[in-house]
Amino acid sequence: MNAPLIIVGAGHAGGRAALTLREEGYTGRLILIGDEPHLPYERPPLSKGLLQGTTDLAGCSLCDSDQLAELGIEHIAGNPVTQLQPQQHRLQLADGQWLPYAGLLLATGGRARRLPQVQANVLYLRTHDEALALRSVLNPGTRLVVVGGGFIGLEVAATARGLGCEVTVLEAGPRLAGRVLPPVISQALLELHREQGVDVRLNVALESIQADSVQWVDGQLLPCDLVVVGIGMQPNIELATAAGLEVGQGIRVDDYLRTSAPNIYAAGDVCEFRLGGRYQRQETWRNAEAQGRHAALNLLGREILFEALPGFWSDQYHWGLLTVGVMSPSVVTRALPGGGLLLFYLDAEQHLQGACGWAPGNSVAKDIKLCERLIAARIPLNPTGLADPELSLKHLLRG
Ligand code: FAD
Ligand code: NAP
Repeated sequence: MNAPLIIVGAGHAGGRAALTLREEGYTGRLILIGDEPHLPYERPPLSKGLLQGTTDLAGCSLCDSDQLAELGIEHIAGNPVTQLQPQQHRLQLADGQWLPYAGLLLATGGRARRLPQVQANVLYLRTHDEALALRSVLNPGTRLVVVGGGFIGLEVAATARGLGCEVTVLEAGPRLAGRVLPPVISQALLELHREQGVDVRLNVALESIQADSVQWVDGQLLPCDLVVVGIGMQPNIELATAAGLEVGQGIRVDDYLRTSAPNIYAAGDVCEFRLGGRYQRQETWRNAEAQGRHAALNLLGREILFEALPGFWSDQYHWGLLTVGVMSPSVVTRALPGGGLLLFYLDAEQHLQGACGWAPGNSVAKDIKLCERLIAARIPLNPTGLADPELSLKHLLRG
């Protein structure tokens, strides 16, 4: 009997890859291995609907167990892969069993970065179970301190305000989500959170966290009931590193998502690939979806270059942020009715490289879709026209 295709990591990218393999006609044995006890699920609702109580695990899952059974996808849950032997084409599970593979996808994602000291009332948010634990303690009047003004911190702050908590956000840097967002959007986020009653403090160096308070280096002490820490993600690279695969800030792949070992691919948050001439990881839903799908095709021998555009979204209160493409230094700003913003990123030939929209609800989604088409069309664009909210992007697309 031929060895199976195996996917390590039953998260978003891994789950999507398994489903794609079947959609694309792969009929051989297929094993999806996860360390969590759940079916593959998407994480964006964890800081939004699931924390608000408007959705549950089934609402986040990529499929149900009947579908997995019908598709003949063997899901091994709660049993992590502990060892990989690329030369022998086999891996070992925590329960000791060895499995051979014909092709392998590593989609091991990442985990929440921890503060160095272990504290009693500190929670993190990466998994469904962590989201449930957090939800159970977000009650009206809870004094919550959020460490980290990135996406986890801001989305948790917004949800917690909706649940009636008193919220303080402590960000180490000079602005919110400073590594991924342009200054004008960081400022808009800051204003929105302060309007909604969040006490946002920037440039904060934490000294310590006690059971009932948080202390800054300059001596300030803030009493609280609960601390949520969102200070970034650590990719789960240990399995690949121990197996001798090439690893940088993630598992390094070529333009086909192939790792340095034969018949092993990587996808999702853990995958370090070349984008715009440099190696980087993308920690986004869109990337997990695209790379999971793409790695599946290449596991089937299609040899297709990975060229998908990056992008992500975030929902906070009744506002939506949406980006597509890459943010180049040259930016044109369009003010949108209702106080929103649409930023266009151009290259030297005035071709659109990326766009970032910030507006109430989902109202900027249509413009970002059009921007995606403008990026693909590579039409030189006039910055004055782009800045004009009266000029329709559809019109620009028609040339
Ligand atoms: P994961 O979904 O983390 O899946 C990897 C899985 O592999 C995990 O279950 C992990 O436990 C498992 N695993 C690791 N090691 C092993 C092993 N040795 N053996 C077996 N299993 C293993 N992105 C957006 O674009 N928009 C959003 O609004 C957004 N919101 C988010 C909200 C939250 C709270 C979080 C945490 C993330 C959010 N993201 C968002 C990011 C997005 O969810 C991730 O980029 C995506 O989940 C990455 O998918 P993945 O499959 O690479 O990793
Ligand atoms: P993140 O987006 O990297 O943000 C972490 C933030 O915390 C950064 O602003 C960082 O500042 C700051 N920080 C680091 N150390 C700190 C400290 N000791 N004290 C105070 N602030 C500190 O990571 P995250 O918000 O934890 O999110 C984790 C993962 O979930 C990421 O992969 C993220 O993409 C994903 N996620 C995505 C979304 C979305 O796309 N909508 C939503 C939720 C989660 P510096 O940058 O200066 O270090």
